[in-house]
Amino acid sequence: MIDAGRFFVPGPTEVRPEVLDAMRRPMIFHRTHAMEELMQRVTQGLGTVFGTRRPVHVITGSGTAAMDLAVRSGTILNVLSVVHGEFGERFARIAEACGRRVTRLTAPPGDVVPLDRIRDALAAADFDAVTATHSETATGVLADIAGISAIVREHPGCLLLVDAVSSAGAMPVTADAWGAAAVVAASQKAMALPPGLAFAAVSEPFLARARNVLDRGTYLDVLRFEEFAAKHQSPTTPAISLLYALDRQLADFQVEGLEARFARHAAMAEVCAAWVSRAEQAALGLSMAAREGSRSPSVTCILTRTKPGVVLTRMREQGYELGGGQAELAGTSFRVGHMGDHTVAGLEALLEVLERVLRAR
Ligand code: PMP
Repeated sequence: MIDAGRFFVPGPTEVRPEVLDAMRRPMIFHRTHAMEELMQRVTQGLGTVFGTRRPVHVITGSGTAAMDLAVRSGTILNVLSVVHGEFGERFARIAEACGRRVTRLTAPPGDVVPLDRIRDALAAADFDAVTATHSETATGVLADIAGISAIVREHPGCLLLVDAVSSAGAMPVTADAWGAAAVVAASQKAMALPPGLAFAAVSEPFLARARNVLDRGTYLDVLRFEEFAAKHQSPTTPAISLLYALDRQLADFQVEGLEARFARHAAMAEVCAAWVSRAEQAALGLSMAAREGSRSPSVTCILTRTKPGVVLTRMREQGYELGGGQAELAGTSFRVGHMGDHTVAGLEALLEVLERVLRAR
């Protein structure tokens, strides 16, 4: 049994009892004023988290559903995918599965694709969209979305689709200021909610593109979300209980203050990186996967000489759950998800136990 406050998987992350309790409220009919009030409130709160004045669509599904929506409605044929790891690759594969021609710009694990490479690729061929992951949960790498966006905007007709699945709620996500066409996320990461909701903030140029795309599908048709958002409703029966949790969580975001929330995440990432660097000096065989200057505030990927499976099992015996490594780093790393409602104190307690576990090797 994993103890409360010790669930440090990089998604799903720990959900506070108060938020879980909010889901115990009775059902309401989703075509009534009560639902419209709820939707209006959460849309407003999400607007602040996503940095947009436009409605943020709430989809019943996991983050991949919102990525699917972004690709289906926001791309035509030629897609440039910036890949910093497993989830950047997922965006590329979704585009391929939708029949798009994908060109990948891939960085070695822990690195970022230099902006110049993106600039050169966009200058060399016509792309109708670029996909990029803000916080690459697989490697703990943070991309410079503002920088990428500035380059994409030099190419009218090219839309930027951003995966903010593990960044929304942990750091500034500024859809409007970036000029991103779509910014998507999910409930179970830094929003600290149970899995089951995906979010999509889309721009006017994205909608103009969508109107000319024929294979938008039904469930994820962004134009249907737009139509119902105008009435503060959702096209299909929403996950009402999860909306109660979201409503509660967004109210708590206001109590903490978004800036304070972001500062807490930045502090947790710094504490974790400083600890890894001390552990490295103490010859515990650890090092950071992501390079300094491009590290995510919500997740740290730690390269380890001890087998990651052994670290995870020993930590589980201590009541802690961490994340394993992914893709090329599967056998050489593990991940700490310091996101959502975790605290610096809680993380420090985890790192103390981790150090003991590693020393007992
Ligand atoms: N993108 C990123 C950056 C993620 O971390 C994840 C989930 N780990 C996804 C996309 C996919 O989200 P989901 O599992 O909610 O579909």
